[in-house]
Amino acid sequence: MIDGHIHIEYGDYTLDWIQKFVDKAVEMELDEIRLLEHNYMFKEFEPMYDTVRAKSDFVDNWFLRKAGKKSYEEYLDLIDKVRARQYPVKIKFGLEVCFFKDSVDLVKELTKDKGFDFLLGSIHFVDNFAFDHTAQLWEGIDVDKTYKTFFEDSIELARSKAFDGIGHPDSIKLFGHRPSYDLTDYYERLAIALSDSNMYADQNSGTQRRCPDTSPLGMDKELIKALKRHNVKIITSSDAHHPEDVGYKIRELQDVVMTCQ
Ligand SMILES: [Zn+2]
Ligand SMILES: [Zn+2]
Repeated sequence: MIDGHIHIEYGDYTLDWIQKFVDKAVEMELDEIRLLEHNYMFKEFEPMYDTVRAKSDFVDNWFLRKAGKKSYEEYLDLIDKVRARQYPVKIKFGLEVCFFKDSVDLVKELTKDKGFDFLLGSIHFVDNFAFDHTAQLWEGIDVDKTYKTFFEDSIELARSKAFDGIGHPDSIKLFGHRPSYDLTDYYERLAIALSDSNMYADQNSGTQRRCPDTSPLGMDKELIKALKRHNVKIITSSDAHHPEDVGYKIRELQDVVMTCQ
């Protein structure tokens, strides 16, 4: 079993901190963990957010609170230190990168030859709308239009070939909003784009952990079926931000994938 999406942001870059994630992974009987940081933890990526920050006070305040708090170099050093040791689970390191159409070249430049095992591209903003922050932000939002842009951007993310996987591919549904139209065509187009770019999809329990009343577990079953039809690899993940959430509902996530035909 793999937990393919685990954030280490709430601790220092020490082997003791990593050990806590490993201990929980062993307890949960996982074979592999993929540790990562949000790209915005590092100031090098700051220019990517200029446009969304300029258009939204909410995003600007969030950015000032959260972003640029860690050293990119120290993260890369930690990866080397962990790789030099033996662990009872396989450990991979990467980044979860916010996708913005006009930042693909910057992302490629900043991640090139840094030795990451994987880059996970995620949609966290639809235009300047930080859709997954709070349910209140959805007030007055055009749901149909937001879904359309979310999926068009997801397809572009897949076509950019800047990433190995796509994070939580239909997380737009986390607060229970649904479009008035059928999503089958978008699922199909996204599956084809991911397949063409040889990317995996992240079957993620994080939104349900955060929003148990409105978010189903993992991806929509029709999306999973489309991914399987096009042979897109699916990797289970918790989106843990704390060691205790490592492996959260991993087996249930895997069962959903196995039973979707
Ligand atoms: Zn994410
Ligand atoms: Zn994440």
